[in-house]
Amino acid sequence: MLFELEAVLEFSGDIGSKKSEIEEVLSNTDKGLFKKGAPKGKEGEASQLKEWSIEGNKLKVKIVSGRYVRAPDALLRLRNQLNLLGAKIKVGIRKIEIKKLEVKGVELGREPKEPVKIAFYVDKIELKGDKADIIFGPSLTVDVIEGGGVDRVIELVIEKAGRQEYEGKAEIKKLLREGKQRKMFTDKDPSVELEKMKWIRRTHSKGQFVYGRNFTSLVNALRDIMIENLYKPLGFMEMIFPKFEPWDVPKKSGHAKSIYPDAYYVMVPKVSSPKEWEDVMDYFRITGEIHRESIMKKVEPVGILSYAQCPPFWQFLEGKILRADTSLPLKVYDWSGPTYRNEAGGTHGIARVEEFHRAETLFIGSPEQVKKMAEEVEEKLTFIFDELLELETKKYSVVPWWMAQEGEKKLSDNEVEGVGTVDFEAYLPYRGERAKSEWLEIQNISIIGDKYPKAFSVKSSKGELWSGCAGGSFERWICAFLAQKGFERDKWPNEIKRRVKLVNELNEAKFTNAEDEIEFA
Ligand code: ATP
Ligand code: ZN
Ligand code: MG
Repeated sequence: MLFELEAVLEFSGDIGSKKSEIEEVLSNTDKGLFKKGAPKGKEGEASQLKEWSIEGNKLKVKIVSGRYVRAPDALLRLRNQLNLLGAKIKVGIRKIEIKKLEVKGVELGREPKEPVKIAFYVDKIELKGDKADIIFGPSLTVDVIEGGGVDRVIELVIEKAGRQEYEGKAEIKKLLREGKQRKMFTDKDPSVELEKMKWIRRTHSKGQFVYGRNFTSLVNALRDIMIENLYKPLGFMEMIFPKFEPWDVPKKSGHAKSIYPDAYYVMVPKVSSPKEWEDVMDYFRITGEIHRESIMKKVEPVGILSYAQCPPFWQFLEGKILRADTSLPLKVYDWSGPTYRNEAGGTHGIARVEEFHRAETLFIGSPEQVKKMAEEVEEKLTFIFDELLELETKKYSVVPWWMAQEGEKKLSDNEVEGVGTVDFEAYLPYRGERAKSEWLEIQNISIIGDKYPKAFSVKSSKGELWSGCAGGSFERWICAFLAQKGFERDKWPNEIKRRVKLVNELNEAKFTNAEDEIEFA
């Protein structure tokens, strides 16, 4: 890898008369300033000041390097040194302009099939077999260099090239367990039936339903089953996680790397005085419509609606040290509200909604504690799905989301013993034969390692701190249950049957509506 950099350092005053002092600093670069930190014998690959010139208040430099003490870092060292000199010569650096930065021969590990592009700070990426030349553009600033931006651009180019390889391939998953084959009681799509029976009703929003009383009774039956058979026996207690994530949360969790096409955004007014909003109010009064363009000018995005459910929890522990003997392992669950996804590929009934309700199970402790808890949670979930709901499911080991996001190259770097994700998938007879149709992921469980504790600066008073979590939505559990068991309650497993109360059994008054008379459930 070769770095070529040209920069103009602009001083607060003319430096023509200070040439000899500046020259002394510059001549030092070859002796120590640009070489310090390079491994012994590799000093030749460290930065070298190739050219320099002074004109008025400007010092122009050209620096080249191999991979040690790279040219951008050398520029920062030079700036600091000249600023020290500044006290003596009474002129300081006012501005630095990066005229050129090229990184040549970046090794990608493979030949990319398509061009690699980067939207910021980079003008052009020239691919040469399995290597790339990165030509930075004029928007590159010293602040970006100082923040480590150049290294991140190089990493991102390598990652994007790796992802191309990975994206074409089907999801890598390994079958862990095949549940018992069960008798199927229907081949109907439960979402269609639920709508016909008026147990649920679509709203004006894509992938959102109002869930009626019968459906909610089913939800509560599942909730009670989870509490009695998973949470109570394993000592989990309930918490209430926020459902709005300020940007800091996806920035720390890593979702900010990729979430944008899948998120629901949250906006707040930039100015909240009613006067500012008068035009929008007037427009609605006159036309009965919402003036979106005008609204967009007056709001700013402050974050997203909860997407993965557990990230906002970490703000509870952020910056703390957990006492290992009294606070660990920590076992909690949250079922306090919906999470949101923009399902770009389309929604489908309750199998794929955009507002869904998930039981999020979270466990934190030493690596051993986390591995043990994951095993226990997985075992209880398997028991619930297999024995209590009598569902036909399969279990797979899959690539965790945070690794999939990074592409194949990173995947192998990131592998840590014990870290990974297990998915439960349920057979949906309405989608076709067992072997040919797509099954539905109803639940997952992950051992995440030290990712979240590190990201939110949470430590254990003793040793490493790990976490794991499990998530499954009641929409998916119920979809799988009704798709396999149908709607005849006599055919339902006793665990569900005995807990569900239907409206007509309660002998309640039924809602009716004059124009569109309907019995709601
Ligand atoms: P899929 O590949 O089917 O979209 P996913 O990989 O996006 O699933 P995860 O991100 O692992 O799902 O989400 C965890 C759990 O949340 C899933 O096991 C499922 O129970 C639930 N879930 C995810 N997306 C939806 C959705 N759109 N509607 C209902 N439940 C969902
Ligand atoms: Zn989680
Ligand atoms: Mg999905």
